[in-house]
Amino acid sequence: MEIKPWKLNKAARCAHCKDATIHSIIIDRYKMKIKCRDCGFTRFYNFHVVNIPKRR
Ligand SMILES: [Zn+2]
Repeated sequence: MEIKPWKLNKAARCAHCKDATIHSIIIDRYKMKIKCRDCGFTRFYNFHVVNIPKRR
């Protein structure tokens, strides 16, 4: 089964060009990519997938 990544847009202050720009946010099952639309500066985040124990 194919799981499509989520694609979001958010206005935020870019850490690179220091402008308030639109950032593309792509969220996959294991990673997240945030890219500034203005300068192309991109950040990656990885998720650690863990099993959450059930409450007793
Ligand atoms: Zn930027």
